[in-house]
Amino acid sequence: MVSRVIPVDPFDLVIFGGTGDLARRKIFPGLYRRFVDGQVPDGCRIVGAARSEMDHAAFREFVGAALAEFIGDSQVPDQVAAFLDIIFYCPIDAKGTSGWADLKALMRDGPVRAFYFSVAPALFGDLAERLHDHGIATPESRIVVEKPFGKNLATAKALNATLAAHFNEAQIYRIDHYLGKETVQNLMAVRFANILFEPLWNSQFVDHVQITVSETVGVGGRGGYYDTSGAMRDMVQNHLMQLLCLIAMEPPNKFEPDAVRDEKLKVIRALDPVAASEIVRGQYRGPKGHTYLDEVENPESGTESYIALKVHVSNWRWKGTPFYLRTGKKLRGRASEIAIMFKEPPHSIFGEGEGWKQNVLVIRLQPDEGMNLRVMIKEPGPGGMRLKDVPLDMSFAEALGADVIIPDAYERLIMDVIRGNQTLFMRGDEVEAAWAWTDPIIQGWRARGDMPAGYDPGTSGPEDALMLLHRDGRRWREIA
Ligand code: NAP
Repeated sequence: MVSRVIPVDPFDLVIFGGTGDLARRKIFPGLYRRFVDGQVPDGCRIVGAARSEMDHAAFREFVGAALAEFIGDSQVPDQVAAFLDIIFYCPIDAKGTSGWADLKALMRDGPVRAFYFSVAPALFGDLAERLHDHGIATPESRIVVEKPFGKNLATAKALNATLAAHFNEAQIYRIDHYLGKETVQNLMAVRFANILFEPLWNSQFVDHVQITVSETVGVGGRGGYYDTSGAMRDMVQNHLMQLLCLIAMEPPNKFEPDAVRDEKLKVIRALDPVAASEIVRGQYRGPKGHTYLDEVENPESGTESYIALKVHVSNWRWKGTPFYLRTGKKLRGRASEIAIMFKEPPHSIFGEGEGWKQNVLVIRLQPDEGMNLRVMIKEPGPGGMRLKDVPLDMSFAEALGADVIIPDAYERLIMDVIRGNQTLFMRGDEVEAAWAWTDPIIQGWRARGDMPAGYDPGTSGPEDALMLLHRDGRRWREIA
């Protein structure tokens, strides 16, 4: 099965931070793949902008090198050359005055105009203001802003207000790249395009939900930034929160931006405060030279590289069904998954002790995006009725055929910006509500002076995180 490609309208896309890590690793390779797939029509322009002095030719070389590094063997030389022909560069300091006239000259009347702020959030306000003041942004232009969107409610509100001074909400695309993942969108398809699951999707049938995002890498070179953030701000407030919303939300009446985002917002507002006893924070402590504290500047840092929380959604659908969230670095495996753990059948006709295991629906985000439903069957053989749980496994790559390439989240999201579809982007009030829930949790452990527990790299996190479920008579799924 070959995926359908619907070309977008011609566009001028400016990438501020065009020489940065994100641009090299994700944005340019993603745009190249869309170009090769025929989704980028004739007449598009992609302009990199940053302080470094370079001309168009030097920047094309820079982008070519990024493609060679991050796409490698699957590059097609003719296609690369054609793609580089639509790449331009404009030296600009977001805080300066020069370069803006040159950028304006590169923009044409007609194409969709989008500006990707792939720079530090401290520069978002300067960029918004200058784009506006120099008459580069039109009322139809779009801006794309990267995470982190604030570091608490006050800073998120300030950032929203800064952007709102020059752009209206319909022009602002706040990226959470988890929402661009194919499986995350599939989560909505599974829930709302099948009759099978939705009747069971509530506290009457779901025992609990586990959301896991585990990484094997440590903070590495990002120690400076990460230590001011931690797992709660870096992962839970945005990515895990978005996954929770998509599982817990009510069916929107249409798959349209505000209908979906209204329902997500209701979930965030229904989250109970989290008690101290329902939070476990950890920090990896390996042999000398391999601990978290070796990778950050503050030798006494109390920032968590791991967090697990038990979260309650206070509404009719979910009353009594906890959502357990966990995420961490330097863990045993690299995996992102959502597991819906169903309840026992009300009565077993097979008697006790026949090996009953709960039905589980696992939605795998990475690696190998797909779904897996564990169901009970009869164990083969003549020895009476013995039960066994087996997986109904579906790897999207296998099920859809070898020629279907699952697009990277950034590819999908950038094309959505050009199409003007905000469904998979966070609205300002959503981000603020997420911070309003997150802030008291962080303030709580600061006020108590809680320090994270140590855990060994390559494990599944601190012991206390196991206890968080054990004391409820549950257990985490294995991190493979
Ligand atoms: P980076 O590698 O440090 O790149 C920063 C970019 O901004 C460079 O192109 C830099 O080029 C440019 N820049 C810095 N100061 C500037 C100024 N005053 N005016 C104009 N351009 C300026 O950062 P990054 O990793 O690409 O991250 C960019 C944004 O994406 C950040 O907000 C980050 O939090 C977010 N993000 C990154 C990732 C990732 O995987 N990297 C993932 C999620 C979110 P010059 O020095 O030449 O000006």
